[in-house]
Amino acid sequence: MARIFSGMRPTGRLHLGHLVGALENWVRFQDSYETIFGIVDWHALTTGYSNTTDLQTHIRETAADWLAAGIDPQKSIIMLQSAVKEHAELHLLFSMITPTPWLIRNPTLKEQAKDLGLVDGSDDQEMTKMDYGHLGYPVLQSADILVYKADIVPVGEDQVPHIEICREIARRFNFLFGERGFRFPEPQHKLTQTPRLPGTDGNMKMSKSLNNCIYLADDPDTIQSQVKKMVTDPKKVRKNDPGRPEVCSVFTYHGVFNAQEVAEIEKTCRSGELGCVDCKKNLGEKIDRKLAPIRTRRNELTSEPQNLDKILLDGSDRARAIASSTLKQVRKAMNLG
Ligand code: ATP
Ligand code: MG
Repeated sequence: MARIFSGMRPTGRLHLGHLVGALENWVRFQDSYETIFGIVDWHALTTGYSNTTDLQTHIRETAADWLAAGIDPQKSIIMLQSAVKEHAELHLLFSMITPTPWLIRNPTLKEQAKDLGLVDGSDDQEMTKMDYGHLGYPVLQSADILVYKADIVPVGEDQVPHIEICREIARRFNFLFGERGFRFPEPQHKLTQTPRLPGTDGNMKMSKSLNNCIYLADDPDTIQSQVKKMVTDPKKVRKNDPGRPEVCSVFTYHGVFNAQEVAEIEKTCRSGELGCVDCKKNLGEKIDRKLAPIRTRRNELTSEPQNLDKILLDGSDRARAIASSTLKQVRKAMNLG
């Protein structure tokens, strides 16, 4: 059976982008693959090391969101990165064989550097304000994936360049140290039908740091008020003006969360029969219908945090058994003790 690994950073509650961009695939794949999912707390430090006060809360919230969405500890290994030190050892070994230009050229890191103000103006100095650990994000991620010899990595679109680096690192390791029979697989990414959910503000990506999210835990009123703020066709000023769905982010969301009615909405928006207020209200209800059962389960789960901790501890033990066997092989291949 092919093996899957994927992870998320415990930086707070999960939003719709996480759900439709990755988590729904994770849930689906549990039945047909061996699945390992990691809460990657070391990765959270790449951008959030100056304040770790809420890290433990965020770890539990992430676990609760996953389980509420349908990740099942009977079917999947749910682990905490920092509880399996083999990730760190493999990261260190990989860092020795990773040429820095692979990292500096990475488009996702570049985009992040720009978003976070880590760019220094002129082109060749682009990442000078980026910390060493942050630049190495894809190297640590490669260790997360390859320590389990995973074949498939279900992620959102922003992660695709990272998975490519992971394949390059695997290839380089195999080339340098693979002659004694040990080889890493070259993992493939796997996207959902919505690999990049835009934000409620019309930005290309829903992201916590951009403050444009609907969270899985949001109550119906919050969902409605977030949808109400969404940008529609600026030329549709009055209720009965004809609209252009192709420039409207509410319409994009209907495509994702209300596929059944999307053809009808397109027609009545264009003709001017459908006003934005009703259209948004409908969307808010459809999103709420999807999130309501998740919200209920989530409330049950967060009321018993010791259960969440136990699931993570058990999962990390199972993960460590696999990871330590990989590291034995890696050390041997590299002539380390
Ligand atoms: P945020 O920017 O909100 O903090 P993040 O991208 O930092 O989220 P990660 O832990 O890096 O969160 O990503 C978890 C997974 O969710 C990744 O596979 C990522 O590609 C996916 N993902 C995150 N946001 C979106 C989105 N808006 N659309 C689709 N997939 C997304
Ligand atoms: Mg990210």
